Amino acid sequence: MAKGGKDLFVLRITCAAVVVLVIAFAVLWLHQGKEAKIERSTVNREALPASKCDPVDKWYQDDWGDWIDENGEEKALIAGMEYFYEKTGVQPYLWIMGENGKDYISEGSIEDLAKDTYAEMFGEDGGHLLIIFREYPNASSNYLVTVRPGEDAEEQVMDEQAREILLGYIDYFYTVEKYNEGEFFAKSLEKAGDRIMTKQISQAALYAIIIISVIAVAGVVIVVHIIRKRKVAEATQKAAAAKAEADLKKNEFAQQKYNDHLETLYVAITCPNCGSSNSKIRKGTTGNCQFCGSAIKVDEEGNVVIESGSKS
Ligand SMILES: [Zn+2]
Repeated sequence: MAKGGKDLFVLRITCAAVVVLVIAFAVLWLHQGKEAKIERSTVNREALPASKCDPVDKWYQDDWGDWIDENGEEKALIAGMEYFYEKTGVQPYLWIMGENGKDYISEGSIEDLAKDTYAEMFGEDGGHLLIIFREYPNASSNYLVTVRPGEDAEEQVMDEQAREILLGYIDYFYTVEKYNEGEFFAKSLEKAGDRIMTKQISQAALYAIIIISVIAVAGVVIVVHIIRKRKVAEATQKAAAAKAEADLKKNEFAQQKYNDHLETLYVAITCPNCGSSNSKIRKGTTGNCQFCGSAIKVDEEGNVVIESGSKS
């Protein structure tokens, strides 16, 4: 019963540990929020060679007018775009639509626009990336964005996963208030450039690693407990055996001591009557001769007391 109780206790501890770990991961996950949900980069990508992209001087066009001002915002934006270009070999171009964007409501329509605009702007040069961004007029919380790579850019760097990564970062940084409009695009491009060009382990592998780690930790806890329990049991058994042996020796010793003591209480005497020396009589008592049966008194020192009456 006690053993079963102990096992149950360990089981509970182990379950608790697993639950705590899972909750910790969940909290971490939620805390990371949207950024953690951005597509992971699971492909090895090589930057597009310089020969595949003929750079242009212009980085953006702000038709809305007040998105990218001439001061800090423009500087931040271009720095971010240059970083992306350096990382990927693909030169990005940002077009922020103005009132002209009101006719493009569906994603399909803005994708068609991107295709035509790319051809118009870069022609046969397949190493660029056109980003078209438009906010709904009078509704600042919604926007449409599309990214259109040239043929070479798409083939080597800006595949579907890479585009999802960039869109994910734009979506994420759109809600981060501390960045101005230039920094918002710049940060999205910098982070996306880094992620696109770095192979990460996949989501599934990440989960597998977490789960295997939790199982391994639980396994180690259980094994350590079993070994410790076994050792404790062995030690207890050994101690009990040693105690039993010690007790036995103690008893034997006590018995011996008692026998020795008894031995000292009796004295062998020679019968004054018949001369037989076979009798043992306790000191300070009167016993009988084994041979002739006559009473013999022995004093405390073990000497036969000769009665004065019987002697004369
Ligand atoms: Zn006798």
